Formats: sequence, C-alpha cells, structure tokens
Amino acid sequence: MGQAGSMFDHVNAYFDRGTVGGRWPAGLLDVIKACNSVYRFAFPFKRRDGRFETITAWRVEHSHHKMPTKGGVRVAPFVDEDEVKGLAALMTYKCAIVDVPYGGAKGAIQIDPRGYDLDELERITRRYTHELIKKNFIGPGIDVPAPDYGSGEREMAWMVDTYLAHHPGALDGLASVTGKPIAEGGLRGRREATGRGLYFALREACGVTEDMQALGLTPGLDGKRLIVQGLGNVGYHAALFCHEAGARIVAIVEQDGVIAHPDGLDPAAVAVHRREHGSIRDFPGATTLAEPAAGLELECDVLIPAAVENVLTADNAPRIKARVILEGANGPTTPDAETVFRARRTLVIPDIYANAGGVTVSYFEWLKNLSHVRFGRLEKRLEEADEARFVRALESLTGQRLSDEDRRQLVHGADEQDIVNSGLEETMVVAYHAMREAYRQAPELGDLRAAAFRMAIDKIARAYLELGVYP
Ligand code: GLU
Repeated sequence: MGQAGSMFDHVNAYFDRGTVGGRWPAGLLDVIKACNSVYRFAFPFKRRDGRFETITAWRVEHSHHKMPTKGGVRVAPFVDEDEVKGLAALMTYKCAIVDVPYGGAKGAIQIDPRGYDLDELERITRRYTHELIKKNFIGPGIDVPAPDYGSGEREMAWMVDTYLAHHPGALDGLASVTGKPIAEGGLRGRREATGRGLYFALREACGVTEDMQALGLTPGLDGKRLIVQGLGNVGYHAALFCHEAGARIVAIVEQDGVIAHPDGLDPAAVAVHRREHGSIRDFPGATTLAEPAAGLELECDVLIPAAVENVLTADNAPRIKARVILEGANGPTTPDAETVFRARRTLVIPDIYANAGGVTVSYFEWLKNLSHVRFGRLEKRLEEADEARFVRALESLTGQRLSDEDRRQLVHGADEQDIVNSGLEETMVVAYHAMREAYRQAPELGDLRAAAFRMAIDKIARAYLELGVYP
C-alpha cells in the first residue's frame, strides 16, 4: 500500500516532530522508536485445485514496554514488511494516547483474500496462527491479534479456535484474540467501536467554539458536510453515527467510484444498495463520479479517509477543500501533505488518536475474557432496583405517577453495550482534550499530531524509566 514512501519512515518523521523541545535523551527516543521483534515467515499452501503456493506473512511487535502487545492482522496483496513495522509502531503510540496498557504490534498475510474460497481462507488463517504459536508470537499475555484491513470477526474466530486447540484448558485462552464474534467470546460494541470513536472525536473537535471559528466553521456537528472515503467497517460506522448526529454525508468514495448528494446520503441505505448491486455506484438520487481520486477533492467541511494509508499526498493536498481531516485509516496523510495542511491551518485529527476506539474496545473485550463475566451482569438488577426506589420516592413526593415510557427511561440498569459505549466515550473525550491541551501548551509543535506524539512519547519514556531499562 505504500505508494508514497516508507510507512515506518513516515511514522518516525511524525515521532521526531513530537520530540521538538528535547525533553528526553536521544538514546531513549531511539529505544522507543525501534521495532523490538520482527517475525517474517513463509509457509506452503496447497490450493483446492492442487497447485502449491508460498504465502508470506508477518507479525511485528513494536514495543515491549507494556505487555501484551496488541494490534490487528492485515490481509492484503500489497502489504510489505516496512508497512507492518509502521503500523505496529502506530499501535504503540495509539495505545499510549488512550491509556490502553499494551505495546503495539501488527500482523499481515500477503494475499488478496478475494482470490481464495472460504475453506482456503480458513486454512490460511489457521496456519498463520499456528506459525505464531510455534514462535510464541500470540497469547493473552504475549501478543493479542485483532481485525484490520482485510480481516474481521470470522478470521478472529478461526484464530482463537486454533489457539485454544493448542492450549487445552487455558483459562485465559479466549483473551488471545479480540474482535471475535459475540458467540465466540466477543464483545457487544466492538464491531462499531472504531467508527463510534471517530464520531466522538469529531463531536469533541466540533464542540470547541474557538477552534471552529478559527476554521471559519460554525460550532457543532449538526449540518456539517462530510466526505467519507472507504465504506468498510470503520468508514461505514463513522458515517452512520455522524449521520445520526445530524451531519450530512455529502459524498462517499470507494475504490470503484464516488457517489455525491448535497443534501446528504444515508449510509445504511447506501450499504443496502451496495449489497444488492455489488457497488455504491448509481445509488438512486445521487451523482456518480467514476474517478475515486476526484471524490476527495469535492466541496465539504470534513474529510474522513477511512481506508488505507497514503491517500493524502503532496500532489492532492493543495486541492482538498475540507477544513477538518479526521483520520479513520492508519497513516492516510503523508508528511508532505501534512506540511500543506499545516500551512493552511487545516485541522487534522490524527489517526493515533482518532481511530483508537477500536483498540480501546478490544481492551474491554480482553478484560471480559480474562474475568469470564459479561459487563453489567452483576450489577444491572441492583441498579434498576435503586432507580425504581428513587422513582417511587419522586412519585410519592410529587403525588404524580410517571408514564410507563418515562419509567422505562429512568429505570434501566446498564448492560454490556451501555457500559462499553460509555467507556469508549469517556476514553475518546478525555484523550481529545488532553491532546488539545498538549498542543495549546506547546504551540511550537505545529499541530495536533505532533502534540499527540508528544503525549505518547512522554508516557512511554516514563514507563521505560520506571522499568529501569534505560539507562
Ligand atoms: N486494527 C485496529 C487498529 O489499527 C485494531 C487493533 C486492535 O483492536 O487490537 O487500531
């Protein structure tokens, strides 16, 4: 995917911007930047028709300063080692920013999943997991994979099943993989988590009156014109939650075309159209453009790149109209493009914060798997009994009876989904304002991304000093 230079170099260039002002010794910064373990392997694969293939795959653990390490598994034909290293490094900084206690990791299988049938994909995923087990690159306290571009709940189910087959009786075995189907130890809300986190991020950014005025925008998400690039799990849910909050999705950009409508598109209806027709093109009432690249440059307030890296480059950055860029994908903006955005005072809400909702809820899933109890199970009824007592007291004080609907609203103990969403919202809100404050305190950093890197570096550097690894 790295058409515009080295992904790992890009991440390190951003890292270096976060170190402006020189608060930590250079040796320690190099320790943080280095990839701790890089495991590249190739395994033979026999296709259904009897042909043999060699499959190349990776797992990179970027930082062991906190264990386990954590990150998704990318399944794509164009992935390479440099990209996996860059993505693993981003995971380290992402986890630090949202206080999720992991080091960063990333895995990859270099195939085009569309070229394999279901049975072949299952055998490849299980063999990949087997190779990780052989070299101790997976485990609840070692390294915990999750979905990424090209993988999802189905692949996580195969992975955890393979892990459990090799670890019979392991009480913590389910915590070896996150992003699993609910029936396989998954968590309600994990599927939507990255998109929901993006929505919280944008809501917080748009809620700061002074920042919106500086961009020439009105405060609030309501009525904002959004372009979403990539209608995968992340882009779809981000679009859906922003649409529900009153934003207008004025264009959706996909690999095979762009649809646009000035009054806004309903993401759920677009998804149905795509399921039925195999493409978003020709969505009723919308204008269809053939050229995906042109879609990014349409008139809008907010652009959400939510597919792959390096889509905003020195070439197209000057033509981007958005005043806010919300990075749903990892690494969508090259350093050259960022220089352009900085000069134009475009607000870039950086990936290492903006898309951290996924790993945050993965953390909740891991906690649930370790504790073997669904969130809310113990206290839901207790909360409801308390609330019912409060309602009864209110009714006897006022002498009025609440309607059944009002009573239902007031007497509702938190279930798993409520608790997960609340934990995600708290995480995204607190981290946004911490990042904004870090930038306010050090405007010489130039933008929110550098401030986010500074926050991450400070936390990791302190962790190393506490560990005594350095000097
Ligand atoms: N692949 C996702 C990311 O890049 C999620 C990782 C996880 O949940 O561990 O953040």
